[in-house]
Amino acid sequence: MALIVQKFGGTSVKDTERLQEVAKWVVKNKEEGNKMVVVVSAPGGMTDSLIKRAEEVNSNPQGRELDVLLSVGEQISAALLSMAIEQLGHKAISFTGPQVGIKTTNDFNNAKILDISPEKIMEKLNSDHVVIITGFQGADENGNITTLGRGGSDTTAVAVGAAISADQVEIYTDVDGIYTADPRVVKNAGKIPQVSFTEMIEMAGKGAKVLHCRSVELAAKYGIDIHLRSAFTWEEGTWVKGDEKMEKAMVRGITHVKGLAKLTITQLESNNYLSDVMDILEDREIDIRLVSQGLNPSGHFEISFLLEEKEAVRVSKLIQEKLGNKENIDVKLNLGMVSAIGIGVRSNRLQGSVMRILNNNGIKPKMMSSSETSLSYVVAEENVDKLKRLMHDELIEKSLSA
Ligand code: ASP
Ligand code: MG
Repeated sequence: MALIVQKFGGTSVKDTERLQEVAKWVVKNKEEGNKMVVVVSAPGGMTDSLIKRAEEVNSNPQGRELDVLLSVGEQISAALLSMAIEQLGHKAISFTGPQVGIKTTNDFNNAKILDISPEKIMEKLNSDHVVIITGFQGADENGNITTLGRGGSDTTAVAVGAAISADQVEIYTDVDGIYTADPRVVKNAGKIPQVSFTEMIEMAGKGAKVLHCRSVELAAKYGIDIHLRSAFTWEEGTWVKGDEKMEKAMVRGITHVKGLAKLTITQLESNNYLSDVMDILEDREIDIRLVSQGLNPSGHFEISFLLEEKEAVRVSKLIQEKLGNKENIDVKLNLGMVSAIGIGVRSNRLQGSVMRILNNNGIKPKMMSSSETSLSYVVAEENVDKLKRLMHDELIEKSLSA
């Protein structure tokens, strides 16, 4: 007997037929003798359409009221799934996040989970219920409904798993696992049976969209294994687990992000300005993908940021206002980043082979970075898919066949 948390994403619960399939799967697992907790997302597309409705009545919907609205989708899934399970002859009960004591910060639209009280969940499990919990939401200390940011149901599932010391957290979605590269771009991409927390966090941060990054950070912190798998084929997927020790550098996957821009500030007299610039970026929660700074030959400081294209122009105006106009701000649009992820990738051999690929194909890197677990290359957006295929060929397929 195991204590299992299963999370179902939007496409897995998007209509009656899907809900019934999910109900059957949950019941099957329960009949095998397991205690079942289920976390659900809103039916596919509903959160987007709720946001659209909000925008129809308000030019900038945000804060408390937006969260009251957005929390509704998950409640629909939870109640319907509970009814579908009852229909199959099993006891089930649905709870909202606040009802099972999911306490969060009061950052509306992007709240963080502070605490979950396991009592109610355990009580209902012990009286033979399937316990269904809405993903993506909780309440702040004043009882206001909060949501956890887009994709946040994964994080609810892992947090619930940690709170009740689950044996297993399974995240069901519409893909059957994590791939060595996006299979729509790289046709030889293969499913990865197992990936470490560190690698998964890197992959999520560098463009892989399968799991909410915070859910993996939480899983790593509490040592909870995640099994990411398909609610369509029900086949084994990819396990995300503790780090294994490896002697040999190994590339697990190639990720990419498009729609990036590089913002460079040159001719800075001193680096005192940098803290002001950082404050601007911090205040607006701008996601900075890479930073590089240095001294140019004339002794001036220079700093470059890689960020989302849609934020670059706005941010450059803010920086200009802050620094006055004498500084030189340059924005390069239409960039993308391709990254190789794996523990120990920062080997000279791997970096050398990527440099060779770039040279041989006339692709000029605009920025580069390396860490223990990733090598990233920023290139013109039009070169992203090509570079991704070339790197996949060289760093994954060749080493697999070697
Ligand atoms: N329904 C929310 C979203 O679409 C949360 C989630 O599905 O994880 O972002
Ligand atoms: Mg998701």
